[in-house]
Amino acid sequence: MLELSGLVAGYGRRALAKLGHLQVKDGEAALLTGPSGAGKTTLLLAIAGLADVLEGHVQVAGRDMATLPARERDRHRGRHIGTIFQDLHLVPGLSALDNLLLAPFASGQRQDRARATELLTRLGLADRVHAGAETLSRGEAQRTAIARAMLIGPSLILADEPTASLDDESCETVLALLLDATRESGAALVIATHDSRVKARVSNIALVVAA
Ligand code: ADP
Ligand code: ADP
Repeated sequence: MLELSGLVAGYGRRALAKLGHLQVKDGEAALLTGPSGAGKTTLLLAIAGLADVLEGHVQVAGRDMATLPARERDRHRGRHIGTIFQDLHLVPGLSALDNLLLAPFASGQRQDRARATELLTRLGLADRVHAGAETLSRGEAQRTAIARAMLIGPSLILADEPTASLDDESCETVLALLLDATRESGAALVIATHDSRVKARVSNIALVVAA
């Protein structure tokens, strides 16, 4: 569950983006939309605690990301928020599977290879589990990033332009996978996008405006 109100996001004291109100229930999806440069990415990063909240509240899994001290905010994000950034941040030279296991490895958590493999398989990547990330197509890379975001069993999934540069068929596949994975896992999903193909599929739409 995500609930935010009166949010002004930016960097330091510089306000960049505003959003009035948004509530996303468990298992449901919402869109952050607005023209290019309105501040969708900035707002998404602020929800994750990676850009600054200048005003307002962001409730994620019962805590307010806006007022948590930095260390707790990082911990809360690590436990509850799965992120799929526009630049997917897959590490070339590592397999799809090892890309999933990298974050738990780096933070000293248990690396659940079986669960990671199962997630990749459910996302249609059974034959790509051991493929180098640099050999994945854009659609495969996108699905690998979705699997990675699901691995922690997040309360909230944030996806920044997940369908950008995908053809219609891959767009449909990735969107269906994101929506299904969200529903099944009971997470809340927020997609930042100006892709009209996505807008047609999600009814909870919030408009981001430049601050
Ligand atoms: P959108 O995702 O809607 O296209 P962004 O959030 O990427 O919008 O950008 C909103 C505005 O914030 C733009 O004017 C951009 O140049 C500016 N901006 C983005 N990142 C930073 C940053 N790290 N520091 C300062 N300004 C930034
Ligand atoms: P095209 O869409 O032109 O067919 P591909 O989808 O086959 O291109 O991807 C071309 C290359 O770009 C591949 O080597 C792939 O690993 C890389 N690639 C795809 N998506 C990403 C991404 N999100 N970030 C970095 N590299 C990527």
